[in-house]
Amino acid sequence: MHLPPRPSLPGVRRALLLSLLCSTAAWASEPAHAPPPEATSHTGGHWGYGEAVGPAHWGDLPGATTCATGKEESPVELVTANTTPDTHPAPSFNYRPSRVRMVNNGHTVEFEYDAGSTVRVGEKEYQLAQFHFHTPSEHTEDGVHFPLELHLVHKNTSGGVLVVGVFIKAGSVNRALDDAFHHLPWNKGDHSEPKGASINASALLPKNKAFFQYHGSLTTPPCTEGVEWYVMKDPIEMSDAEIASFQRLPHLNPNNRPPQPLNGRTVYLHASTR
Ligand SMILES: [Zn+2]
Repeated sequence: MHLPPRPSLPGVRRALLLSLLCSTAAWASEPAHAPPPEATSHTGGHWGYGEAVGPAHWGDLPGATTCATGKEESPVELVTANTTPDTHPAPSFNYRPSRVRMVNNGHTVEFEYDAGSTVRVGEKEYQLAQFHFHTPSEHTEDGVHFPLELHLVHKNTSGGVLVVGVFIKAGSVNRALDDAFHHLPWNKGDHSEPKGASINASALLPKNKAFFQYHGSLTTPPCTEGVEWYVMKDPIEMSDAEIASFQRLPHLNPNNRPPQPLNGRTVYLHASTR
């Protein structure tokens, strides 16, 4: 997905188009409370998943050249047959319940997680900050896109980011998410906090904790690299109705960045079922 050098005239035309789009209400600037899904810093431009502002153009955004030039970008195609057996420590999850506090930031619905839930890998501990969804899945597993992919975003005190990805397939009702998914915030900027609702992110992990692990990036501008990815091999389930309730939100279907080249990176497979 690397962009070839562009002649200047189309670039100017595109910049003009972007500025026109960005001047309309639909492309109004990001509210301060709604950062991009996995970002710790902000890009100055406007982006999305549609033709004019989609992933192929993200590298043109101010501060987001990594989206076009990065060599360790996410998502990627996860192919079991090409993985290396993992000998690194598995993540140890210490998740507590959190209030359900959702925001539609125009790129996804983000669940802001109460402080105090962590994941530990070796000596490093990361706080669960938020989780959110993409449709269809951003990673693929053995060539398959799932209808949804959940990203649990963790940060440590030195600015490190660790994301746990969980594929979601159609199946049984997901009791942990059902109440929240009946109250998804509809429009960009909307918040939803169903009264008394709580969730424990442990319920969002598959029973079998086998996972793919690789070094990647944020999947949204500015596509910053240095992100530790742990993608669970087994999917969890949600009902067709629950999946549809996310997919019918305006402007969020699709909201997936396509798979990026591996460029020689190793993808590990940790097969332990602990
Ligand atoms: Zn994400």
